[in-house]
This record gives sequence, C-alpha cells and structure tokens, in this order.
Amino acid sequence: MNWLSNFIRPSIRSLVGEKKDVPDNLWQKCSACEGMLFHKELKSNDNVCYHCGHHMAIPVSKRLEILFDEGAYQTTSLPKVPHDPLKFKDRKKYAERLKETRQKTGSDDALIIAKGKIGGQNAVVAAFNFAFMGGSMGTAVGEGIVRAAEEAVKTRSALIVVPSSGGARMQEGMLSLMQMPRTIIAVDSVKEAGLPYIVLLVNPTTGGVSASFAMVGDIHIAEPGAMIGFAGRRVIEETVRETLPDDFQTAEYLLEHGMVDMVVPRAELNAKIGTILDLLMNKTSSGPKGGGSKVKSKDAGAKSTAKKDGPKKGKKVGPVSIKSADSVTKKPANSQKVAKAS
Ligand SMILES: [Zn+2]
Repeated sequence: MNWLSNFIRPSIRSLVGEKKDVPDNLWQKCSACEGMLFHKELKSNDNVCYHCGHHMAIPVSKRLEILFDEGAYQTTSLPKVPHDPLKFKDRKKYAERLKETRQKTGSDDALIIAKGKIGGQNAVVAAFNFAFMGGSMGTAVGEGIVRAAEEAVKTRSALIVVPSSGGARMQEGMLSLMQMPRTIIAVDSVKEAGLPYIVLLVNPTTGGVSASFAMVGDIHIAEPGAMIGFAGRRVIEETVRETLPDDFQTAEYLLEHGMVDMVVPRAELNAKIGTILDLLMNKTSSGPKGGGSKVKSKDAGAKSTAKKDGPKKGKKVGPVSIKSADSVTKKPANSQKVAKAS
C-alpha cells in the first residue's frame, strides 16, 4: 500500500476521512467493576474509578502533587552510586536495561525525593516510581532513602515514604539485599531525632521493601485495595497448603489484623497526613529539640488518630499503642548511624 499512501494519500483521505482524529484511549475500563471511564474525568478524579472507588496506578509526579499542599514541592537528586556493580546479564545487560529505563521514564532510578509542606508542616517524601523496573530497590534507592532521612533530620521535617515496589532488585544481588538493614537504620535516625516517620503503603508493596523500612513506620497509612505483603499469594498457598481468604494481603485485611493503622482514600491523603503531622510536630517544633517532649506528643498523636476510626475498628488501637510503646524505649537524638551506614 506504499504507493497508495505515498502518492494519492490526500485524495483518499478526503474520501474516507481521517480516522486518527479520534484517539483510541479516550475511554478506559475499570479493572475492578469493568465500568467505562472517560479519561479526562478519570484523570481529574486522581485515577480513582468514579463508579466503584477502585484506586488505579498513578504516575509518581501526580502522587507527589496530591500529597503536598497546593501540589508544590521541590525534588532533590539521588546520590550517585556505581551502576551495575556486578556486571549482571540476563537476556539483556543490566547496564543496558538501566539506560533504556532511564530514557523511558526520565528519572535516574526508582525513587524520587521531594520536599515541601503537608498541612503546613515540613515534610520530606521519598516516593517509589513503579514504572522504573517495578519500583525495585537497588543501591540507588537505598542510598536515596538514607539521603531522604538525613534531609528530614537536617531540616526538622517529617519523613514520609511511599513504597510501590516489587521488592529488591535482583540484578544487584546481595547489594540490593544490603539496602534492607541500611534503610531501617536510616529511618531509625529520623525517629531518634524526635520526628515522625510515616509510611504510605500503595499498591503494590512487596518483597524486600515490605520486609524492611516499609513496616517500621510510626504510623502506617494504606490506600484502599492496595496489595501489601512479602511473598506472593500462590507461593504462600503452596507452602501452607491452605486456601487463603479473598481479601488476603489487601490494605483492608491488614487493617483488621493490626499491620496498618488506617486506610485512607487518595483524595483525603493530604488532609489526613496534614492532621497527623500537625498533631505530632506542633509540640516538638516549639519545644526543645530531641527526646523529652517527643514521646509525649507522639503518643498523643497516635491516640487521637486512633480515636477517630476507633468505634469502627476496635483492634486498631492495639498496633498503634505497641508502636508508641516501642518509641518510648528509644533513646533521643543520635543521627550518627546514618553517617556510618553511608
Ligand atoms: Zn470501578
């Protein structure tokens, strides 16, 4: 058909009309309720289905816009790390894969560090980009979490991590697994400085990420329907030889079982986190830096946030009070650990 499109295309077009005028992605089907969604309305609803409330994936830049007050934030670049330290190769060289993904996504690695205000309080957000190799955690991501924690301590900000990850990055082998203890030490330094560390669990949070920093927050918030777990459902079913409940590893299931403190719809995230930060940080910012006043305010915050959803979910008070008890045992300010780790 080349001769046709090359030589008499304009006249043919005038006869049959220009089909490409109508893009084929104007409508999208909801994967939960199969309702048809008009893309503009879906976009203005932050990628939440307006029929059934199903939360779909959202680009990381949009996620940051939703979290920060008035959508205003500045990003900090990720620390430089050696690329492809193991010279790994599967079907493709890891170095090549990295290069391609960087070009496609326009970001350095699977983490974005952003600073701004949430509810008027200083906040550093480290958000995973699932589009970058499944949000997998390699050296760059681990180093990024350490940088974000240091930044939070330095600027007296809350640290909020938003994991959306398939786990450790296999192409970096042992080095990616080493990021698990490193990130734990990093977020611990934030707690020791008397600053809140909040985890916002979004779909999906799995593997080495859920087995490290993502499960040690002062407060765990999850988006509705988010898949949160360590191993996959099929693997567990085969190991324990039991059929698991339908809602296994969902945010709601974890809320009922005490792993998550609250499930918050996307549209309410800024307000909710703002309220929490206001409760946790207002007392520390006026008082002396470090330990003493911190424990009290943290406790008060945890209790009052627990109270709000209290009547519905009685169990929730449990994990929160365990966590605040945990923070009582911690000694005040000592941020040297991160320096050691990095
Ligand atoms: Zn739907």
